[in-house]
Amino acid sequence: MNKPKMAAEKGVPSNSKVQMLLGQLERINGEGMVNDVEAARQVTAKILHLIQTQEKSGKEVMSKGSSGIEVILSSLENTRDDQTTLNILYILSELLTAGHRMGVFVSKGVTGILFHILMTTSKELAPSEELMLQLHSLLAKVGPKDRKFGLKARLSGALNVTVNLMKHSLHNTKLLLPCLQVLRVYSTNLVNSVSLGKNGVVELMFKIVTPYSKRNTSLIKVALDALGSLLKSKTNARRAVDGKHVPVLLAMYMDWHRNDTRHRHMLIRKGFLICLRNITNIKLGRKVFNEADGMRILFNSSTECLPVRTLDPLVSIASLIMRSCFPKNRLPLPTIKSAFHYQLPHKHVIGPVAQLYSQPAGVDDVVDDSDDNEETEADTENDTENEEDEKDHNTANEDIETDLNKLHPKKSPDRPFEELRVYERFFLELSEDFQGCNFECSKSGSTTSSSSTTSSSASSRSSRPIIVPTAQALSPKHVPKATSQEDCYPTKVQRTQPSPSASSTPASQAPLELDTIHRIKDQDKKEEAHIPSPDGLATLSSLTRPPSQGQRIEQELAHVLDCVSLEEEGGLNAEGGTWGVKQAGTSVNGTRLIQSPLLLGGIVTRRVGGGGSNWGSDCGSEGTEDEGGEGAVLEVPDTALLLSLHDPDLYVEMVKGTHSVPQYAEVAYPDYFGHIAPTFREPHLERVYGVQSSKIFQDIERLIHPNDILDKVVYDLDIRSCPVIEDEGESLKFNSQFESGNLRKAVQVRKYEYDLVLNSDINTNHYHQWFYFEVSGMRVGTTYRFNIINCEKTNSQYNYGMQVLMYSVQEAIGGRPRWVRTGTDICYYKNHFPRSSIAAGGQKGKSYYTLTFSKTFSHKDDVCYFAYHYPYTYSTLKMHLSKLEALKTPQIYIRQDVLCETLGGNSCPLLTITAMPESNSNDHICQFRNRPLIFLTARVHPGETNASWVMKGTLEFLMGTSPLAANLREAYIFKIVPMLNPDGVVNGNHRCSLSGEDLNRQWQNPNPELHPTIYHTKSLLQYLAHIQRAPLVFCDYHGHSRKKNVFMYGCSVKETVWQSNISATSSDLQEDLGYRALPKILSQIAPAFSMASCSFVVERSKESAARVVVWREIGVQRSYTMESSLCGCDQGKYKGLQIGTRELEEMGAQFCVALLRLKRLTGLRNHQNLLDLESDIIGTQSKVVSSCSTTYVMEEDEPSFLEAIDYSAESNDEDPEAENEHGSGVHKNPDHLDQLSDSETNHRD
Ligand SMILES: [Zn+2]
Repeated sequence: MNKPKMAAEKGVPSNSKVQMLLGQLERINGEGMVNDVEAARQVTAKILHLIQTQEKSGKEVMSKGSSGIEVILSSLENTRDDQTTLNILYILSELLTAGHRMGVFVSKGVTGILFHILMTTSKELAPSEELMLQLHSLLAKVGPKDRKFGLKARLSGALNVTVNLMKHSLHNTKLLLPCLQVLRVYSTNLVNSVSLGKNGVVELMFKIVTPYSKRNTSLIKVALDALGSLLKSKTNARRAVDGKHVPVLLAMYMDWHRNDTRHRHMLIRKGFLICLRNITNIKLGRKVFNEADGMRILFNSSTECLPVRTLDPLVSIASLIMRSCFPKNRLPLPTIKSAFHYQLPHKHVIGPVAQLYSQPAGVDDVVDDSDDNEETEADTENDTENEEDEKDHNTANEDIETDLNKLHPKKSPDRPFEELRVYERFFLELSEDFQGCNFECSKSGSTTSSSSTTSSSASSRSSRPIIVPTAQALSPKHVPKATSQEDCYPTKVQRTQPSPSASSTPASQAPLELDTIHRIKDQDKKEEAHIPSPDGLATLSSLTRPPSQGQRIEQELAHVLDCVSLEEEGGLNAEGGTWGVKQAGTSVNGTRLIQSPLLLGGIVTRRVGGGGSNWGSDCGSEGTEDEGGEGAVLEVPDTALLLSLHDPDLYVEMVKGTHSVPQYAEVAYPDYFGHIAPTFREPHLERVYGVQSSKIFQDIERLIHPNDILDKVVYDLDIRSCPVIEDEGESLKFNSQFESGNLRKAVQVRKYEYDLVLNSDINTNHYHQWFYFEVSGMRVGTTYRFNIINCEKTNSQYNYGMQVLMYSVQEAIGGRPRWVRTGTDICYYKNHFPRSSIAAGGQKGKSYYTLTFSKTFSHKDDVCYFAYHYPYTYSTLKMHLSKLEALKTPQIYIRQDVLCETLGGNSCPLLTITAMPESNSNDHICQFRNRPLIFLTARVHPGETNASWVMKGTLEFLMGTSPLAANLREAYIFKIVPMLNPDGVVNGNHRCSLSGEDLNRQWQNPNPELHPTIYHTKSLLQYLAHIQRAPLVFCDYHGHSRKKNVFMYGCSVKETVWQSNISATSSDLQEDLGYRALPKILSQIAPAFSMASCSFVVERSKESAARVVVWREIGVQRSYTMESSLCGCDQGKYKGLQIGTRELEEMGAQFCVALLRLKRLTGLRNHQNLLDLESDIIGTQSKVVSSCSTTYVMEEDEPSFLEAIDYSAESNDEDPEAENEHGSGVHKNPDHLDQLSDSETNHRD
């Protein structure tokens, strides 16, 4: 800006001289240069001189107002004189070197002019070498800035000119270098690469790259870059293989690796690896690579590189190559179909389950030729230059519902009311008149007991589901059971009459007299006595032991453990009889160990200390192990006293009434003891630098050092008779034969490393993700590595700070009965176990993923449990419901009905909670009956246990004594189905029910036999719609495995239309904004809740999910899915922390509080608050629209994560489960290979 002024002050401004020269040049152009070659030479030489000597001159030429560039380029275009051309090329080169923007030249057409001169010059008899050199130098600079460079080069014929020049200048380094630089740009275009390959350029490059040499390193570097680009073409890769260059490349790479001791030529070494990587993209390349011992060569060299951080790019690319060349392993299973099969009442004729079981016998579904199916090894002849333009398009949008008909609520009148009338019995509160009630000292007992089941599991089964004939009756298990326990379990001598809160444990093996203990315990409760008299109980002497004897207790426990495994036979039979679960059907595992229940016996005996220690107070501190007060160490916590809804004995009682396909007879300790959320924070795990590389190298090492591999199967569910494989060797012992357990196989790979395989959902061949298993026999202080090797999703929160959960029985005995986040070196990556196309829904060439974690155990003879998330079994639900009912006060109306029975013979509870009417006056009864309904469901997906914990929070709040809870009960009638998929939960499924289907995709047309819980829940809603009482809010609780925070999905026509391209009339878009109110309130009151993660878009893939069907068919505007992260939060008060049951339960309670606020908002006459809220919401909306990516359901929270992407980049894996509600999203794996690094630290924003 100031320049002219300053120049003027100096008197003779230099820039004016340049301008003057440019003016002369322009005139020469105008007059035709042919006439005055000398003048043009002189003027251009002078300009060059000025630019070389005075920085300002360059700036003046390039300045905005100047026409300098045009003048220079036009001279270049017009001149026929080599010297003038050279001068101008030098000028351009100077200008570019000085840092002026290349884009300006490109926009003025410099590329075309240069190619034109190149072609003209090449046709001369003896082209000027200097001119060729300058032309290529400039082209090399311009090329990367011109997106059409490759195309222009090809069309102008320049490719051959450059190639011919190179062929004749192999020893002319000075000329060769710029040619290679240009070639490097040419070959970024695939079509060019193919054409260059045909002209022998691949072979040419192999003449240029050499073993280690200190000379010409920049030449070698550029040649390798160009070669790497060329080899992206599969035909060129094939040429390299055919030319026997793979061993040569390996040898040269090793030569550089050995000699480049100071790592000065990392880029050259990387260049070799990129060439190898591109060659091994084709199957033949992998074969030749392996034949050349490439795995060992790269493994050894990379191992040497590992400690040097600057060599990370080498390690990354080498491991990519090794991973793609790693011979495919067979998943160690006989079939990928679930180890358990449940005979469905009627056969699927079509659909996945039918396909699964109609396969001819002998078909191997674990592997097929899917890996041999080589991608066609020809290049697609499309120009890649426009690719970048297209990459921006959001392909994920394809799932948005664009059919306006489907976006409008449509009540389906197809069911006659006569058919729905039967559901009236579940809505007694709508007709109840309370005439028999005495409201002065009212107990609503008469109300509840008349229609509901009581808490005992046995009697709850007496209330038969409503009559929709199913084949359940055919199964011997479904013969209605007698209600008395004696009839039910005849082999058990009932020593005490079981009460709901303290009933006898099935601990027939226990060395102690349980009756006594129970009596003591009951008495203890009644009298609130401090410590019961220990008379006669052997272990009670332990109470008098000095504190130092904690260790002896551990030994004792170990002894008990030993006893258990030795004396299983007798115990087993007794148990089987006692529990009554083995009588029906054939016992699949009649002779196996029953560890847990017997263990329970052993441990129950230790509960003699009763409650009342300082136990509860130190549960928050981690240092309690050493404090070892008598009570603290010796006592088994009486969790019944500490957890309001927990009672171990009641739990066992509930388990007896639970039906599982494998007929489990064991109880896992964590479910028995219960879980007390730790008070300490559990932050996201910081990822250790390079953890994934090192894990992958360990995996590859299996191939390099096969002698270290044990490959010993230690647990195998496919051996029905005896899954736990006993041996005297030093192996961990695994077990998962208890409710919600899921582990199919454990293989000891190395001394302290195990490969674990999860079982598919019953009647399916995939869907595994949930795990829950027991480990024992560990060494203290030794770090074990566990690999779950058949994970299916392409990415996981385990790459973003989530840890697995562990429950230690020793810790529980020590006073800390709790699940804790644990595990180090956690990562999740694609492995070398291929998925058959049968398993991958027809897609070929897919692999499984490995979740790996390490754990160092701190207690000897411990029994530890690992789980995907906080377990919450069906029996736990029954126990909680029973305890919740007991919290009833005269003011609370609670009824528990059995909605129906599941395929597996488990009852599906339906709760009704509201407040009793104030009196039986007409007004009060009227108010009571007319309360709006809130309809809540949860746990349709068994693997999403967090949904149950949120539901627990909701239920506990609803049964609470706070004024808020009372207000809420007075405001609404709650209808709650807390577990829509009990069978899935019981059997350790991740996603499906026994029908092998995702129940949350059955809402449009639920089958009463195959999907009874969905069928009847939908019927309830249809009934309500019929009687004009559709709920105000419907919400289905879920868990989300790939996003953080808690958030909601809702349904909005408007927002769906906004997100898509469909045109809609304004009448289509008239929509009440009310659907946003509840999530908005939640975002204000619940710290874990994130409005930014919410979405109100209707997707096609969800058209048969609860939320969409209830919205569309029942007409509930506020119909939601509430998703809770399995991992944790990245905003709000819990930012950086993993989520725990406390936060989940809190969320459930806050959901209730939000409903109360919603009531106040909707109840206001003038709606002023609501309007305020809505304007607030509209503000958010416009924001949302401008950056619409935030609301799209499929979007993943996590930024691209380099190391993770690294290992899945080998194929463009997309999640095949597009129907997956939970972040199934299309996870893109951008090819970041050239910047591969271990920079985990960057992955968070
Ligand atoms: Zn779900």
